[in-house]
Amino acid sequence: MTTFADLGLSPKVLSAVTDAGYTIPTPIQAGAIPPALARRDILGIAQTGTGKTASFVLPMLTLLEKGRARARMPRTLILEPTRELAAQVAENFEKYGKNHKLNVALLIGGVSFDEQDRKLERGADVLICTPGRLLDHTERGKLLMTGVEILVIDEADRMLDMGFIPDIERIAKLIPFTRQTLFFSATMPPEIQKLADRFLQNPERIEVAPPSSTAKTVTQRLVATHSKDYEKRSVLRDLIRAQDDLKNAIIFCNRKVDVADLFRSLDRHGFSVGALHGDMDQRARTTMLANFKENKLTLLVASDVAARGLDIPDVSHVFNFDVPIHAEDYVHRIGRTGRAGRSGAAFTLVSKRDGKFVDAIEKLIDQKIEWLNGDIDALPPQAESEERPRGGRERGGRDRDRSRGRNTRGEPRAETRTETSEAQEKVEAVKAERKTEGRPQAPARNPRAANHAAPRPANDDSRDRRSRYRRDDDDGPTPLGFGDEVPAFMLIAGKA
Ligand code: AMP
Repeated sequence: MTTFADLGLSPKVLSAVTDAGYTIPTPIQAGAIPPALARRDILGIAQTGTGKTASFVLPMLTLLEKGRARARMPRTLILEPTRELAAQVAENFEKYGKNHKLNVALLIGGVSFDEQDRKLERGADVLICTPGRLLDHTERGKLLMTGVEILVIDEADRMLDMGFIPDIERIAKLIPFTRQTLFFSATMPPEIQKLADRFLQNPERIEVAPPSSTAKTVTQRLVATHSKDYEKRSVLRDLIRAQDDLKNAIIFCNRKVDVADLFRSLDRHGFSVGALHGDMDQRARTTMLANFKENKLTLLVASDVAARGLDIPDVSHVFNFDVPIHAEDYVHRIGRTGRAGRSGAAFTLVSKRDGKFVDAIEKLIDQKIEWLNGDIDALPPQAESEERPRGGRERGGRDRDRSRGRNTRGEPRAETRTETSEAQEKVEAVKAERKTEGRPQAPARNPRAANHAAPRPANDDSRDRRSRYRRDDDDGPTPLGFGDEVPAFMLIAGKA
């Protein structure tokens, strides 16, 4: 069996890997590290959770042992689609680079330029950036890219989804052609393949874990519910309370406005809960995530965009408050639990309206998901209006959870027109929110093509730059309850 010692890494790197407690490289590491050390280009098809980050960080550390950084001329550049992923890669450099004296600069949106400028001035060995902020720095004349020896493009398909490909192409033009390029993507749609063909020279291709599979160690169940949010919240609370082995859980909503609503509701009901969505400022997000990782919070309500790619080890449970309308998001969500052979549980709340999305998921993962307590047809009839929140309107009704009592099990009620259109409205809203991230409205044969093909006007740059920080994350309407103003009690002391 291959060990890290067999891969050609330097003694300093090997010692840090041993201290991290790893002896056996994952398949992407075993496949990518030796050719990366031989200065070959890499095409890595792997998703987060496979050890992908170390597969480029470890060889980079080894290669960087020769040479020194010069002011404003970084030696290596890593591009990440989101701030959290960029911060996570920086943490990997800290962990595996603890025996090195390398300057690592993190250039992400949402934080001040000044400190980033100072780091660049000192000379950065490693630049880890989101594309928008990097271009801002280069255009301010603070950064020369002509010394970059290694370029890493991580999560390329996600970059495509978020509309970053034109930025990446601009950045690549600033870097010498002779560079080494390490390119990673979870999936390889044709546009990504084309991009790889243009950016990579005779790459070593390593493909691991198909993206349509869920870990066998995860118990997956569907949970029947009526479609109203207050009913779903009640079902969710009961479900959470019924889990004896729940250590920590991520609860996914389709829209960030629902993240905020559900967070407030769970908080009011006394759960230890935090929330993560794209409209929170960077400090709030980092603190929230740190609190969750350190078990100061048991539950984390999140949107797909905010949570994707985050390395949160050992999550015992995943709850899908909403069935994802894109089947591949289900696989990403479930991938938060059952990692590294551990057991995990994933529950998905399903109402009558969700049938076609569940079908799409079951088709993608090629398995039927069992119902927990009988399917939707076995569900007791929906209660009459007296148990619904007063004021009629669901969203924004602050007393909606307080106002409802136990289910009175009234007469079966025919589904009303309002309910039907509300459900449809919700799906449309999710699609609209995703569309701003570059996702198509209707599933196409090749869903990413539409976005990639859409040209951006040449003179659109400044407007585009202003909005780019928002495109680092979700772009839908700002939640009502808290955006950047996260209540102090949620920001329990943690790493800033
Ligand atoms: P990544 O795919 O880079 O997000 O890594 C997922 C998780 O796997 C991280 O928590 C890493 O610390 C961990 N990891 C990376 N390499 C190994 C390894 N060789 N053995 C066990 N765990 C690893």
